[in-house]
Amino acid sequence: SRANRGAERFTVYQVGQDEAHLRQIRVANRLREAVEAGAFELLYQPKYSLRQARISSCEALVRWQDEELGPVFPDEFIPIAEQTGMITAISEAVLATALADLAMLREHSDGLAVSVNLSGIDILKPPFIDRVIEQVRESGLPASAVVLEITETAMVEDLELARGHLLRLDAAGLALSIDDFGTGFSSLGQLRALPARELKIDRSLVQPLGDRSEDRQIVASTIDMAHHLGLSVVAEGVENMEIVNHLHAMGCDVLQGYFLARPMPAEALAAWLDEPPAQVAALEHLARG
Ligand code: C2E
Ligand code: MG
Ligand code: MG
Ligand code: MG
Repeated sequence: SRANRGAERFTVYQVGQDEAHLRQIRVANRLREAVEAGAFELLYQPKYSLRQARISSCEALVRWQDEELGPVFPDEFIPIAEQTGMITAISEAVLATALADLAMLREHSDGLAVSVNLSGIDILKPPFIDRVIEQVRESGLPASAVVLEITETAMVEDLELARGHLLRLDAAGLALSIDDFGTGFSSLGQLRALPARELKIDRSLVQPLGDRSEDRQIVASTIDMAHHLGLSVVAEGVENMEIVNHLHAMGCDVLQGYFLARPMPAEALAAWLDEPPAQVAALEHLARG
């Protein structure tokens, strides 16, 4: 009967929910140990600046391989780390490693910058802001070589508090980048209040560029508006030359994605910088027009 089918569906839904909840608890427990043991690794994905005709930066992306759970991806464990308050310890560890790796990588590429992803939760904590500024100062690296990527949605919780903290980071010379633009609810108008220097267009807007012209218009006007606000524009998730050509025609400043390189360990990036592959030459050709 219909009522029975409804009950069955309800049971399936419940079991699925309980399983998801159990998994979250397991991940949270393992995560606590991983934070204590410092069990995270970083991969770096380079970015190519069409404006400067060079590899300008790399993004640090955290990886966690747990003995019991196997590899757990950031899209799963970062939200759990945020809910349990462990995120800030992770962010500090990531920043410390990224600064040490950047010092090494700059021996292979003059003036290279690094970007680190922060959570909106970090940005609301005054002691965290102090420690970021202190860590960067102690590293001896120019603060302008350190970019902090933050998603727009992460900040709406308390925009005024976030803004004050971001102004302090900006005053200390660090650059702020708005990550995953196009996935949240805020507009470029709202972002004007933030001291951002860079806007990253989310890959969900970038990837359809090859086949849908209406998306092209959205990306083109986003780039134009960002430029009017004085922001540099990075496109993420660039996977092929067709999309590269569209973005170049639209005046996009920086490209990041599998077309250029997949995320890799610091030592591999050092070797990659020493001998850049053919894609880099293709982008250089385009950039020098
Ligand atoms: P994100 O900051 O937007 O990073 C870009 C994600 O897209 C990365 O996934 C990257 O590996 C992937 N990606 C890059 N190029 C391409 C491409 O051409 N095609 C496709 N399909 N994907 C591409 P990843 O490493 O799994 O990270 C996912 C998200 O997790 C990040 O998104 C970021 O929001 C978060 N995350 C990563 N590391 C950290 C961290 O250290 N701290 C915090 N708070 N969040 C992090
Ligand atoms: Mg990012
Ligand atoms: Mg992103
Ligand atoms: Mg993303």
